[in-house]
Amino acid sequence: SVTDRCNFRCSYCMPKEVFDSHYTFLPHAELLSFEEIARLARLFADAGVRKLRLTGGEPLLRKNLEHLVELLAALRTPAGAPLDITLTTNGSLLARKAAALKAAGLGRLTVSLDAIDDAVFRRMNDVDFAVEDVLAGIDAALAAGFPAIKVNMVVKKGTNDDQIVPLARALHARYGNAAVLRFIEYMDVGSTNGWRLDEVLPSHEVLARLREIGPLAALPASAAGETAQRWRFEGTGQEIGLVSSVTQAFCGDCNRARLATDGRLYLCLFASHGHDLRALLRGGADDAAIAG
Ligand code: SAM
Ligand code: SF4
Repeated sequence: SVTDRCNFRCSYCMPKEVFDSHYTFLPHAELLSFEEIARLARLFADAGVRKLRLTGGEPLLRKNLEHLVELLAALRTPAGAPLDITLTTNGSLLARKAAALKAAGLGRLTVSLDAIDDAVFRRMNDVDFAVEDVLAGIDAALAAGFPAIKVNMVVKKGTNDDQIVPLARALHARYGNAAVLRFIEYMDVGSTNGWRLDEVLPSHEVLARLREIGPLAALPASAAGETAQRWRFEGTGQEIGLVSSVTQAFCGDCNRARLATDGRLYLCLFASHGHDLRALLRGGADDAAIAG
């Protein structure tokens, strides 16, 4: 996570009532620098990590993020292969940044989009941001040479579940099979988003609604520890993914770790304790001590 800040106020993540003008974000000096992140990433790669995902907050708010991408793209696995470098963004700044990110060596992109209906989307991001501007970001990313874009939709029952079929249809109409839509079950990510189980639409119900478009066939998992179950429309070949974080938690084969903005390493999204790697970095620890 390269920043704790965001220009959206999605109610399921950074609700306005909590993340308001009184909320204290981290001062710049407490963020890991790009050099610190790249040094840790090199040690993670030595320890077996193959994939890095840049996230936030909104990662594109971090100035010159493409420079961090360049540093990470220069890293190699012990076998000499480059790492898989990906980024998850709300898309708001993507139209401006896509070409520079691609040139810096970013491999893949995920863009979050919770509705195709403009009024529903503006309500969900709660800062009146338009759907069309996110789509312009996806357009720019494809034009910059990213071969395919994943699109994340968090489904909240009663808020945007009527957008499941329209969003799938609209993305296919605009991008063909270059956009892979993934439906994410609304999760309880802390005590601030007022999570209620009755607002979760289970993935099997998402799938049932998608069958309205046409028959779907299950695809095999493409990697161990993959969070999404993949499906393909038999007619068009359009792929979709279901991330069932609530109804079928995938903790058993989770292979992820999260390096937070302040340099703490969390081994679970729900962990309350993180390992303070920034203290090691700034305390002068050598590579072996940090890796240990
Ligand atoms: N700001 C970027 C974005 O929105 O893509 C990156 C960070 S955001 C926290 C990463 C992903 O987590 C987004 O796709 C977002 O929709 C999802 N997310 C946030 N809160 C969630 C929740 N309560 N349940 C499920 N997914 C959530
Ligand atoms: Fe910002 Fe992403 Fe959270 Fe929405 S989901 S508030 S865009 S960090």
